Formats: sequence, C-alpha cells, structure tokens
Amino acid sequence: MSVQQDVNYSLQTRLLHHKHKTDPTNGAVSVPIQHASTFHQNGLESFGPYDYARSGNPTRQALEDTIAELESGTAGFAFASGMAAISSTFMMLSAGEHLVITEDVYGGTFRLTTEILTRHGIDHTFVDMTNIQEVKNAILPNTKMIFMETPSNPTMKITPIQEIVQLAKENDCLTVLDNTFMTPVLQRPLDLGVDVVVHSATKFIGGHSDVVAGLAVVKDDFLAEKLHFLQNSLGAILGPQDSWLILRGMKTMHTRMEASSKSANIIARWLVNQAEVRKVYYPGLPNHPGFDVNHRQANGSGAVLSFELADIAAVETLIKKVEIPVFAVSLGAVESILSYPAKMSHEAMPAVEREKRGITDGLLRLSVGLEKTEDLIADLDQALRG
Ligand SMILES: *Cc1c(COP(=O)(O)O)cnc(C)c1O
Repeated sequence: MSVQQDVNYSLQTRLLHHKHKTDPTNGAVSVPIQHASTFHQNGLESFGPYDYARSGNPTRQALEDTIAELESGTAGFAFASGMAAISSTFMMLSAGEHLVITEDVYGGTFRLTTEILTRHGIDHTFVDMTNIQEVKNAILPNTKMIFMETPSNPTMKITPIQEIVQLAKENDCLTVLDNTFMTPVLQRPLDLGVDVVVHSATKFIGGHSDVVAGLAVVKDDFLAEKLHFLQNSLGAILGPQDSWLILRGMKTMHTRMEASSKSANIIARWLVNQAEVRKVYYPGLPNHPGFDVNHRQANGSGAVLSFELADIAAVETLIKKVEIPVFAVSLGAVESILSYPAKMSHEAMPAVEREKRGITDGLLRLSVGLEKTEDLIADLDQALRG
C-alpha cells in the first residue's frame, strides 16, 4: 500500500508520504544521496533511465517528482538557485519577443530582465500586475510571456492570478509565476491556470537558511520537454546533496508555513497599532488592497510582512536594538529574518524605481520564523521604543 496513490490525502500528509518515501532497494526512509556523475548501461539497445547526471540524477529526480506533485504539476525541475530556475525559464523566449512583468519583482529578476535579457533582444514592460487594464495595455503583438510575482516583494501586492491567466490565454502568452513567498502549501498557481511555477527553494521550501536552490514546475508535456531541454543545455542543475537538503526541509514545510503565517498575522495586527509605524504591508490585514483577492486564491497570507518607519535613522535604531530576528537578506527560515529592502533585496534597483514602488528608506521587511509570537512582539516593542 502506498499513500500517494490516493490523491484525496491532504498536502500535509502527501509531503511525508509520496512516491519517494522509502527506497525500493532497501526500505531506507530517507532518499539516498546519489553522487554518481555517470551510469553504467547494459548494452547498446538497453539504456537505463539515467546516463549522465546533468541530464538526470535519482536524488534530484526525487525532489523534482515531489515538488511536481505538490504543485499539482506533471514535471518538476531543480536548479542551482532560484535565479537559475528563473533565468532558465526566461530562455523559453527568443530574440525579438517581449515579456510583461510585475513592476515590484524580486531585485535579481529585475536585474536579469533589464540588464541581461535586453542584451539578447528580449524586451520587457513593467506593470502594476494588480491593474488589469494596465497589463492589457502593455501586451504587444510580440508579447510571449507574462511573469507574475505574488505577493510581490516587499509591499505584498496581490495579483489576481486567474484574471491575468485569462488575459494571457486571449493573447497567446505563456504565464510564469514566482511562488516563493507562498509555497504550494498556501498557493497552487497551476490549479489557477498558470503554465510555469518557479521558486527560490532557498526560502520557505528549504526553510533552514542552509541551502541555495531553485525549482520550476509545469503541467504540460510540451513545456516539460522544453524546460528539460533548457535545464540540460544550460546546465544550472541542483546537486544531489542540496537536493536532499531541500527534500529534508520540505517534510516540515506545512507545519512551518502554518505556524509562521499565524504568527505573522498577529504581529502585523500589533504593528498597525504602534505609533512609530507609518504603514504595514500584509495581505492578511482586512484593509490591505489585495485582501479579498488573496482570500479567494490562496489558503493563507504567508509569513512575510513589511512595515515603514519614519526614516533611515529610525531603521538604524531598531536594527541596533532588536535581539531576536537576524538582520540579513533572505526570508522563509525557521529563524525570523529582518531585512532592509532598499539596501538588500532591491539594491539592484535604481533609487527612483524603488521610491515609485514604495520601497522607501524607512521600509523594513520581516520574515516571521518559529519563535514564540509573544517573544517577537516584546522584542519589536523594546526596539521600536529605541
Ligand atoms: C530569493 C528570491 C529569488 C531568487 O532566488 P535565489 O535562490 O536567491 O537565486 C527569486 N524570487 C524571490 C521572490 C525571492 O525571494
């Protein structure tokens, strides 16, 4: 009997009981780490499932199968980083084509789009993806891809996914969605009609700030073939050791997402009532402009929130005083991470572009970890009081 055959089990259960829960050769309950770079073939006419480890590796395959199943896809691909997954996916485009992309996209994706794709003849238009009319106006005859990141980073804008998918279908465009902030626990874009889901698995999927990795998932055989060709040709694959670390981290993903999101909700509500805080960005707040859309398309609001203090001096005081969160780039870990988007995730973005997107000098982003909520609030409280 194997659990994964019953698709009615919840994701929480399927995270632990999937196709690779035990090793068929010896029953091991942890996926073996296969370091081999090449595989013996039995003869000219009988090549096995693996030949060379760039093209396929059993440990990486276990991760790729698992993420495909969790995202309701048919094929998954593991890459050396989130940016490797995103850049390999962008390579589906050809010179002369155009893409429409979320304006407050991750800084690395912004840099890739503006400084590398442009050199290869792939043009782009940044849009407020929450504004359907603006997206419609940006679509050109040569637009072939719409790239969404939702919730967006760091002001947590919510894209109405199904409306964008509908628009893309009418215009023969591929849709790609960066699901890093939500994970399949909270949001499953393929079920909403998106063509390709990408992740920085470095964040919530890995969950422990100890591995850099990227994932992509599709549910269409033609796209699967195309992405596998790109993964194998560009070679930005995830190694077996890191694949194992992601598989290990994923086992607790549901529990971590649930606990951290619950805590983030409480902290967001507390921050709203603090005199020193000018603004709180969190899709779980009823007055957040994306609250209803998020409620409709996701199972929760996630564990990341941003808040704005008066100025950079107030930020400096807070980061000097705060004790629990690490002050660092990245997000989505067991420990809470406080970051400063203007000089971290969005440093690659020119200052004028940053200001336009609400990434002011007073803005801080908090990725809520697994500490006791009351302790985090007490710590933020003493730090805010300076
Ligand atoms: C971190 C991040 C990326 C890039 O992923 P890496 O693993 O750092 O290459 C892409 N998108 C989002 C939303 C991210 O947070």
